[in-house]
Amino acid sequence: MIIPSEFAAEAFVFRGDRLVPERISVKNGAIVPGDPGYPEAGFRLAVFPDCLNAHTHCADFRMKIPPGLPLEELVAPPDGLKHRYLRDTSAGIIGSSMREFRRISLSSGSVSFIDFRENGAEGCRLLRENAPEAIILGRPASPEFDPEEMEKILEYADGIGLSSISDVPGRYLDDIADFVRSKHSVLAIHASERIREDIGRVLSLDPAFVVHMCEAEKSDIAECADSDVPIAVCPGSNAYFGKTPPLAEMFSCGASVALGTDNGMLRAPDLASEASLLMDIIKKQNCDPGQVFGVFTALNGKILNHKIRISHSIQRRVMAVPFEGEPLPGNIFCRSSHGISLKPQNRSDRNGV
Ligand SMILES: [Zn+2]
Repeated sequence: MIIPSEFAAEAFVFRGDRLVPERISVKNGAIVPGDPGYPEAGFRLAVFPDCLNAHTHCADFRMKIPPGLPLEELVAPPDGLKHRYLRDTSAGIIGSSMREFRRISLSSGSVSFIDFRENGAEGCRLLRENAPEAIILGRPASPEFDPEEMEKILEYADGIGLSSISDVPGRYLDDIADFVRSKHSVLAIHASERIREDIGRVLSLDPAFVVHMCEAEKSDIAECADSDVPIAVCPGSNAYFGKTPPLAEMFSCGASVALGTDNGMLRAPDLASEASLLMDIIKKQNCDPGQVFGVFTALNGKILNHKIRISHSIQRRVMAVPFEGEPLPGNIFCRSSHGISLKPQNRSDRNGV
């Protein structure tokens, strides 16, 4: 769909838990006040303020993957194909991959992305340099717990993002979790992606949120909901490995569900496109289609500025999704959906975008 440089459109703005109709006029990617008389667009817009991509790995954005590689051989540390790529690729190429990933993420409307950053402190430094507003959760690279390395990671990162309890020795996990607590920082971790993992053990680490939970039982999900630990789901990446997040159980347990695009080598960081895959699962699992709207902002109040203090600047922007027909979830998020970034008006009353 071609987006003109100046247009007026009927928009539906997501506020709290519903879409509110509002006319908007857009000039060069910015919402302008009043009605300057721009030509009417041939589409409507669904508008979502301050969308956060809840889970990414941006450094492998340019990596090419051979088809049919099992999950473990591709992404399991320390010697999965992805980790060998990250070790063997120059900082120049990784840095430019990060910049390209960031450009697409911003231009498709996300305010920022929460990146699980491999390669220790150096990986975090590289991302901070190339994507200043990224929320970085770094991963230690040393084979044994090293408080100095942890200190260095947290110089650049907003917290720690771990592979999974199955990939890290138990003592090491506890040392990391203790260190994170002592620094009043945050930790997040992949959980039950490939196999079911002990949710009690996962939650003992006090994660700010967990990622995937494809193989989780309903009781595991209920424990997350009871502990107020949000779950980030990544339907595109999961589908690549033949997995499906149990959304119906997540919603019925009252878990906070956030949306992420996961590995850059598998998915571009376009949340609207990812949400169309989520819609497919919502339909298959007979969930309330309206649940799709909340997943962009599920982490905002729970994590940002609450557990992760944002010291670097995040520019306000809205994700606008062009669509046709009634403002129903299935019309807004379909296979051709993509997000565009619009700069909101500079308004102090925060009414209207
Ligand atoms: Zn991940």
